Amino acid sequence: MHKGYQRSEALFAEAKQLIPGGVNSPVRAFKAVGANPVFIDRAEGPYLYDVDGNRYIDYVLSWGPMIAGHANEEVSAALKEAIDRGTSYGAPTELETRLAQLLLDAFPAMDMVRMVNSGTEATMSALRLARGYTGRNKIVKFEGCYHGHADSLLIKAGSGALTLGVPTSPGVPSNIANNTITAPYNDLETMKKIFEEAGDDIAALIIEGVPGNMGCIPPKEGYLQGLRDLTRQYGALLIMDEVMSGFRVAYGGAQVLYDIEPDITCLGKIIGGGLPVGAYGGKKEIMEMIAPAGPIYQAGTLSGNPLAMTAGIAMLEILKRPGTYETLAEKTRYVAEGIAAAAKDAGVPLYSTRVGSMFSGFITTETVEDFASACTSDTEAFGAYFRAMLEEGVYLACSQFEAGFMSLAHSQEDLDFTIAAAQKAFRKVAER
Ligand code: PMP
Repeated sequence: MHKGYQRSEALFAEAKQLIPGGVNSPVRAFKAVGANPVFIDRAEGPYLYDVDGNRYIDYVLSWGPMIAGHANEEVSAALKEAIDRGTSYGAPTELETRLAQLLLDAFPAMDMVRMVNSGTEATMSALRLARGYTGRNKIVKFEGCYHGHADSLLIKAGSGALTLGVPTSPGVPSNIANNTITAPYNDLETMKKIFEEAGDDIAALIIEGVPGNMGCIPPKEGYLQGLRDLTRQYGALLIMDEVMSGFRVAYGGAQVLYDIEPDITCLGKIIGGGLPVGAYGGKKEIMEMIAPAGPIYQAGTLSGNPLAMTAGIAMLEILKRPGTYETLAEKTRYVAEGIAAAAKDAGVPLYSTRVGSMFSGFITTETVEDFASACTSDTEAFGAYFRAMLEEGVYLACSQFEAGFMSLAHSQEDLDFTIAAAQKAFRKVAER
């Protein structure tokens, strides 16, 4: 029985007085689902516990990083040992080299890697590198893909593929937005036209390894290779943003799963084991352009932080074990198919997608393969589904346009509990 949200409501009211919107990252406010956020007290394994004493099976996992479950024993033990050695030095450590080696071993396309503190920093720095390396200014991104909140990347599509970018947020100068071209995902023909028209000015095309920020939408067969060929043809760099898909859809990322060789890869989330981290890496010739090896400046006081490196190393050592990704994919298949069946039984149309341990269910009768088709989803119905699941004790991503994540800690019982909750929740949706 759910114990209500009383304490969370009080804490949210207090936080709103002190913090814009009461949260330190907008999506946490639950605005898109017509609810107020639950405030978390602690987490363990696949569970979140809120301040009112409710337990939730967690499919958000801090938006991805907690792939081994919350408070994983091995990660926690490594951190406890590390913390007594000091929490930041602003000087190099062997830990940085060790995590770098683990990343390079996992990503054949990467010869060198630079650590930063977030996914936003990784993509922002990758763009500067691509522009500095190519001597070109324009970048191409996809409608519905999110790459953090750097000015150049916070751009939504205009009408028509070659329309100049329109800032999504006030505060993004139009002269920066003008250098971002947006394109529809999974549509190679439109991309060819963009490159025919502007190819010689394009520094880079940036793409999510598996888009998860418009919900999980797998690339069509051959699409990524088509983008790789096109960027090579025009001398533009291909940046794969694997901040979400890295160590999520495979050991390595989407580029390993689909056998694509990007020029630059961006990472975050899982490689910090739940501590703030990001990284970008690529071919030696490109990476050696970065200061102090080269002239392109990028720096960070806390970059390569010893706690973050320690947690990342411990996490990757866990994920490297045989069977990890098969186990994650099988659990994801089980729960995603169970949720889809629950929707069907209740007469709610659901388009279900998944890649490895990322999954989504779009409440729509359409086939979802890009941002426009994702937008046919019934977000009101999703809100009702989300709220019902929360009351049943299942914590889903609080938007139709986010992916769900599976961890190694979810048990068969947790998955069956989730499916039973979905059966009740979809019945509520249908009865609205
Ligand atoms: N790229 C992708 C694909 C992401 O999903 C995110 C965050 N969800 C980012 C970049 C930005 O990462 P951060 O929030 O760590 O800045």
